[in-house]
Amino acid sequence: MISQVKILDRDGEIKRVIKSKELNEDFEKKEELASYRMSQKRSNKESKIIVCEWCGSRARVFCRNAKYCQPPEKRCATLARISKTNEKQKAQRKKRKCRKCKKAFKPVRSQQYCHNPCTSPTSSK
Ligand SMILES: [Zn+2]
Ligand SMILES: [Zn+2]
Repeated sequence: MISQVKILDRDGEIKRVIKSKELNEDFEKKEELASYRMSQKRSNKESKIIVCEWCGSRARVFCRNAKYCQPPEKRCATLARISKTNEKQKAQRKKRKCRKCKKAFKPVRSQQYCHNPCTSPTSSK
């Protein structure tokens, strides 16, 4: 245990002596704070139970933002991601109406006009 701490000034003169009681109180406070912070950190890392958005069953996850069962038990997150990607791709493949001639066409990315002949972003006005 620390009995006392001498605080010296630049010339090596004792400026202040912190007695053990004082010090211990301070020390304890710090310890308390540190352990509190530790527990806070730990609680963030702790697992929690969620209802999987993919399979609907309860799952224990270790990530605060997790929405799906986590590996190695189940691959819901992967499955959900694949399906989402597929949906996105499907949505992208949907036909779009040409802004000019109103004909439906299969857009490429954010294409707004068909190629026949309404679009031609390269052509001059
Ligand atoms: Zn699941
Ligand atoms: Zn068109």
